[in-house]
Amino acid sequence: MSDNASHDEFQDHRELNQALGIFTTDPLIGSGLPVWLPNGSIVRDELEQLARDVARADGCHGVHSPVLAKRELFERSGHWAKFADDMFPVMQLGAAPGDDDLVLRPANCPHHALAYAASRHSYRELPVRLNELAPMFRAERSGVLSGLSRVRQISLDDTHVFCRPDQIGDEAARALRSALHAQEVLGLPVDYVRMSLRDNGAGYLGTDQQWGDAEAALRLAAERVLPGTGLELVDGVGEAAFYGPKLDLQVRDGRGHEETIATVQLDFNQPERFDLTYDGEDGGRHRVAMIHRGTVGSMERVVASLLERYQGRLPLWLAPVQVCLLPVAPAHDGPARRLHDDLLAAGLRPRTDVDGSLGARIRRSRERRDAVIVVIGDDEIASDSVQVTDPAADFRGAVDRARFVAQLQKAYDSRARRIDW
Ligand SMILES: [Zn+2]
Repeated sequence: MSDNASHDEFQDHRELNQALGIFTTDPLIGSGLPVWLPNGSIVRDELEQLARDVARADGCHGVHSPVLAKRELFERSGHWAKFADDMFPVMQLGAAPGDDDLVLRPANCPHHALAYAASRHSYRELPVRLNELAPMFRAERSGVLSGLSRVRQISLDDTHVFCRPDQIGDEAARALRSALHAQEVLGLPVDYVRMSLRDNGAGYLGTDQQWGDAEAALRLAAERVLPGTGLELVDGVGEAAFYGPKLDLQVRDGRGHEETIATVQLDFNQPERFDLTYDGEDGGRHRVAMIHRGTVGSMERVVASLLERYQGRLPLWLAPVQVCLLPVAPAHDGPARRLHDDLLAAGLRPRTDVDGSLGARIRRSRERRDAVIVVIGDDEIASDSVQVTDPAADFRGAVDRARFVAQLQKAYDSRARRIDW
């Protein structure tokens, strides 16, 4: 039978999910509210760890903030005027409207702005970079919701940088570099970088001068980072955020649809609305600049993209089952179990299957898209080796047992997209 049945035609992430068990949806929970199953949680935990590693390498500090806030917070930030239609209705807890009105947040930025405002900052300690992988909410109509790609709760890897105006160039370049690095690790090819600008429409906040300065700073950052990457900067008029222009990393999904996977946005408006300042060298208070940056993106969208990009066969570091161990006969169960324990001790995710014929077990492992399949029989035990099948690397052969564990550990630690057998 063909090993490549799944390659014959493109499957979207909802189709792939049938065999992979990444998430489930239930009408009783509601549309656009997927539940991450154990396999999906493994993938998501790995992605969250990548997001944390990138944030830490960039000097970000973690914060945790609530998903709710008073309506006034979003009136102040400008979200209410622009986004009220996409927000869930107000929860009125007080006796009268406006008394104690809470809403689910449409963005994390205002919470982070107030986290910055919680203490005074000297010009010497800037930039301050705050990172949180946190949910935000969209009151999408149930008809447009689909799998993980359109959801009502979005778990975003979100960083806000507060810096002096003279630091904007460096910070925007750093953010763009980190976003490109994260997508490179994921193996999601970025198509181009979009310079998202405002159009003639209403609803944009800020002065012409601010928009002009912000655009110039982002262009400069792109000119510093993009040469050598093969990526072009393409203008997108009407694609700006309401508070400022942005650089968007554009990717194509498996069906060729374009989407934004990570952004760098410059914002002169929220710092004014929340009166965010720093103490300058001259002793006076100065307006701080704010940069919104994403690197890994939203957990829902990036997992949908990864499943489709790899057609379910995720790289070892993301795969829910990294090694499927298949002892040929009961006599081989003991050695298989010992290898299983060694893989666990090396920090890997093995699974040992003993039920059914060897052929049926290999078929099930392939359907689950386990990263590596290992068969253990008399020959392997005699030679202290394992029989390895790695479909992603198109490799099949005997590998020394100790070398096998070391190779997997190396591939996992380095988040390799392919194992170099
Ligand atoms: Zn933001």
